[in-house]
Amino acid sequence: MTKHLKLYIDGEWIDSANPNMQDVINPATQEVIAKASQATKEETEKAIRTAKRTFESGVWSEQTPAARAEMLLQISDKIEVNLKELAELEVINNGKTKREAEADVEDAVNTFRYYAGLLHNQTEEAFEADKDLQTLIVKEPMGVAGLIVPWNFPLLMSVWKIAPALAAGNSIILKPAEITPVTAVKLYELIEQTDLPKGVAQLLLGTGAVAGQTLAESNDVNIVSFTGSTKVGQQIMQAGAGNLKKVSLELGGKSPNVIFGDADIDLAVDYALFGIFMGAGQVCTSGSRLLVQDNIYEEFIEKYIEKAKAIRVGPGNDTKSEMGAIVSEKHMESILNYIQIGIEEGAHLALGGNRMKTDGLEKGFFIEPTVFTDVTSDMRIVQEEIFGPVIVIQKFKDEKDAIQIANDTDYGLAGAVFTKDQPKAIRIIKKIRAGITWVNTYHLSSVRSPWGGYKTSGIGRSLGKYGLDEYQETKQINISMNPERIDWFEGNK
Ligand code: NAD
Repeated sequence: MTKHLKLYIDGEWIDSANPNMQDVINPATQEVIAKASQATKEETEKAIRTAKRTFESGVWSEQTPAARAEMLLQISDKIEVNLKELAELEVINNGKTKREAEADVEDAVNTFRYYAGLLHNQTEEAFEADKDLQTLIVKEPMGVAGLIVPWNFPLLMSVWKIAPALAAGNSIILKPAEITPVTAVKLYELIEQTDLPKGVAQLLLGTGAVAGQTLAESNDVNIVSFTGSTKVGQQIMQAGAGNLKKVSLELGGKSPNVIFGDADIDLAVDYALFGIFMGAGQVCTSGSRLLVQDNIYEEFIEKYIEKAKAIRVGPGNDTKSEMGAIVSEKHMESILNYIQIGIEEGAHLALGGNRMKTDGLEKGFFIEPTVFTDVTSDMRIVQEEIFGPVIVIQKFKDEKDAIQIANDTDYGLAGAVFTKDQPKAIRIIKKIRAGITWVNTYHLSSVRSPWGGYKTSGIGRSLGKYGLDEYQETKQINISMNPERIDWFEGNK
């Protein structure tokens, strides 16, 4: 029987008054795996009112850090016990491989545990600001947090927001992407089994245009934390201007991966493949532009293509699959359209370029690992985020050339450099205008490290202590140690 996914508001699972349900599809088979409620504007407003009420009641916002940490640990334990089921749900909803999905769930467990630990370690500042004036700097929750996430890491992106937002003491409203709500629903079923007070955490399924936009516009939402496309990030910033709400934006990227002639070529090929084909290229930090030095260009491309050809594409629940499906038909069409644009722009299509329709893949949305060589910075396939298994490879001459090409896009999310010359690696990385960078590796990062971009890749940082700061207000408290009259106005004497 197809599962019917509901909204979760004030501790109750409710059907939307909206009769239109969203079909939730397995992108590897096109099978309808669930039907999801689509929140109306009124239901979104009810979720906001509930969150505001519970925030003001102090039932969560005034709990001690230790009590909040204990709750985060309860949630992490629930996720850990249900790891297998959550990973299986992520596979059939998003299309990613089992290995990728299991890594996401493990990261989700770690994220809750990390913030539980951080709560025990957060200290406040105190200093003597002046004679007899003691100052304390304290952190406080912001209020109601609207958390809007995309479809590429449906569970993990939700947790990257929920864990610090709850740790800070906020009441929250999560809105997953309309096409991938399944693991968020399971996560809330688990949260419901913990002692988190009712009404602190709401779940809204539904569209960006209604539920998302209502959260962004509401004067009763104090922060919107959004991960998604740059275009929608810009809309959210505008929509939030009414009450000058804080916006935290994790947006798109077109990240350069720079391979110097003195790199370990086999290592660089390995990570350059991982950099783009992991998650079928549907990863914000994908190394989607390869910059290869002219003295190894031919050799590198030959090795790269040979390995890319061998990637086993298939349904995520087949353990042999190394690269899964594209999340939806619409997104697959957008990627295929970019491939066509690349061909028309004169890039050389060196590998792939097609939808895969044989060997049992005909019903799903699969695209061959695709390689364009001899591209130039003016091409759309080099400037725009394709968000699929498509790499564009560009040649560079020297360090100066590499830096110029690497920074020649509006994005600034991530970047990497491969070379055996460590001082050169640091020189280049410091010049790359991006928030997440690597030397001789790709994609490896930890929950302790700030996550976010420069330029149009976003504002603010997730994860680490920076991620907790994002959901907190900062207050100064000035305490007189010797209360006596100031007598500023002589007439008062
Ligand atoms: P999207 O921007 O289309 O949608 C993201 C979310 O925003 C969805 O939940 C959607 O319903 C909602 N939304 C849409 N319109 C809205 C509106 N007007 N107001 C409020 N919410 C609205 O993005 P997507 O296609 O789901 O995800 C892919 C994008 O996400 C890529 O650009 C990718 O780079 C980016 N991304 C960035 C990071 C990061 O950490 N920087 C991580 C993952 C994905």
